[in-house]
Amino acid sequence: MIVAGFEFSLVVELSGISKSYGSVHALRNISLGVSEGETCVLIGPSGCGKSTLLRTVNGLVLPDTGTVRVDGETLNESNVQTIRHKIGYSIQDGGLFPHLSARENVVLLARDLGKPADSCRQRAEDLCELCRFPRHRLDALPGELSGGQQQRVSLMRALMLDPPILLLDEPLGALDPMIRAELQEELRQIIRNLGKTVLFVTHDLPEATHFADRIVLMRAGQIAQAGSFEELRNRPANDFVKQFVSAQESLTFRQKS
Ligand code: ADP
Repeated sequence: MIVAGFEFSLVVELSGISKSYGSVHALRNISLGVSEGETCVLIGPSGCGKSTLLRTVNGLVLPDTGTVRVDGETLNESNVQTIRHKIGYSIQDGGLFPHLSARENVVLLARDLGKPADSCRQRAEDLCELCRFPRHRLDALPGELSGGQQQRVSLMRALMLDPPILLLDEPLGALDPMIRAELQEELRQIIRNLGKTVLFVTHDLPEATHFADRIVLMRAGQIAQAGSFEELRNRPANDFVKQFVSAQESLTFRQKS
């Protein structure tokens, strides 16, 4: 992609993606590119297809039509596992294995790939520092950790192999407002400092604005508009965009007043 004379390499390229579940058209002919180091936030009403779109990128959802390219490679059955190693994935509630300790959750994939135990231990400890997780809690089970700590462990797991791409599906959605605000700031710093390419799902416009280089507003399996918050607010592509932005703004105002 070339914008104003600068060339950006697309790390994630979705072309003509459609996916139906029976009569439900979850995704309708979506094309979207995410540039290296960009944070692209998918937002929209519940059921509009955000998670389904995210999950096409790591092959957890196979589209009916269209192609997914990751780091220049077209995703297919034979390369899906190796491509997944370039992608960290974190979901709401953390999605940790409840019977494994925090440490075991973090190192699981690296150990499966045959990485030496010593380097895994060291990497887990470095990630504690990066994600501000208390080292002495590494041997706790997820159920013994707070929601915020579980989310930190989930992020550490996503970062374990130092993937260039992160898929974050409502990663802060289950947290109470104070912890959420704290983690929003820390997570943004981590993403910026590490230079990751990020696709982030949220239903909260202030959170989208906090993280996004570009907001992609979806409706009924399609992209309603993509751009900055200011573009969506000042130059809405249609009535839906206008109503979505003003409804979220009045919700934020109500919460603050
Ligand atoms: P969002 O993340 O925006 O809330 P989803 O991507 O989870 O939306 O879902 C989009 C639509 O696809 C919804 O109508 C949902 O019910 C449907 N859907 C998603 N996954 C499945 C599935 N595995 N089986 C059947 N329907 C699904």
